[in-house]
Amino acid sequence: MRGLALIIALLTLMLSPPPAVAQEAARLVPGASALTSSGGGWLRGPPDMQLRLTLTRAVPYRVFLVGDPIRLIVDLKDVDFANAKAQDLFGADLVPAIRWGHYRRGWSRMVVELPGPYRVASAGLRTGAPQPQITVALEPVSEAEFAPRPSAATALRDLPAPADLPEAPITEGLVVALDPGHGGFDPGAQAGGETEADLVLEFALDLRKALEARGVNVAMTREDDSFVALEDRMTLAREAGARLFLSLHADALPKGQAAGATVYLWNPASDNRAARQLAMRHGRDDLLAGVDLAGQDDALAGALMDFARTDTQPRSENFARWLTSRMALMGIGMHGRPVQGAAFAVLKSPDMPSALLELGFISDDADRANLTNPLWRARMVEVVADAITGWARDDAARASMLRH
Ligand SMILES: [Zn+2]
Repeated sequence: MRGLALIIALLTLMLSPPPAVAQEAARLVPGASALTSSGGGWLRGPPDMQLRLTLTRAVPYRVFLVGDPIRLIVDLKDVDFANAKAQDLFGADLVPAIRWGHYRRGWSRMVVELPGPYRVASAGLRTGAPQPQITVALEPVSEAEFAPRPSAATALRDLPAPADLPEAPITEGLVVALDPGHGGFDPGAQAGGETEADLVLEFALDLRKALEARGVNVAMTREDDSFVALEDRMTLAREAGARLFLSLHADALPKGQAAGATVYLWNPASDNRAARQLAMRHGRDDLLAGVDLAGQDDALAGALMDFARTDTQPRSENFARWLTSRMALMGIGMHGRPVQGAAFAVLKSPDMPSALLELGFISDDADRANLTNPLWRARMVEVVADAITGWARDDAARASMLRH
């Protein structure tokens, strides 16, 4: 019988069509592909999201979700992403990260890190004109309703890029420094009877609570209405072993110049006028208090700082993406350019990922109404706390991939 089986097997082999002339791989058409969102708002909750992938020809595909962290996986047969960069996809800033690449013989994989729990409401392939398109509709669900694919471990094998295999996440032993701006003789910006120093302190204390509830250790640069020099704020954070330094502000700019939450990262070369104004104003109070920040680093120290920054700057940028995608998800109004560079002295520290978050601008009526609205503040606290823990997991996963 075994001989017969062998003959049948051989016959089958001989009868099967000769290896076809390799069909040209389908290509993604990046310009006609996008991630979009609809609905949602800070009172209504996360928006729906739609992923549209336009291809040069129809291909088999599959779509599923995995957890820890929450991701949408789209596997595509014979698709060549060629030189298209995932982060250039229209709407890529709606989510913390998108990656794609070759994954296994004949298959490519797209990984969309989601900023919260979703379900796949529908997925379909339209083969008609003008070009085939895969559409995936995502609907937000609660944590309890989130149903990732059970065999996630298998699904995660062979992902195209690092940071896709987080090992034992995460927040254990994580220390985050919260830096409520201003304080003491420096009230910061003022408008409508509110002061920036008070608003951001209140926010920071709420955020500390939310982070501690998530198992994160929080170091505060100030816990009351006292003045702390900028350099001391960084030193405090460093001594606490903070993995992230987050400065909180709610500044004022001339009417019409700024509204909506804005994330600032260190960039001494930034030529944005408003950002320069803000950064300058934030060194001035130190000078008033007798602290001189000028001339602290000579050329050698400068070079060392640049070297250290090659590690921390991408991590700060990644944190900014986590923040903006969580804010977009939860309907928090953001500045038209939500991530900007500025030479804020408090972001100078090269050895710690750091960011300065303008929660909003106290000079903008709508922003000020939000900042003083307990509902909005509670929502924003959740957004920032989730961004911090999401980033910390991602950051730890990337670090462990680098070590291997
Ligand atoms: Zn400020």
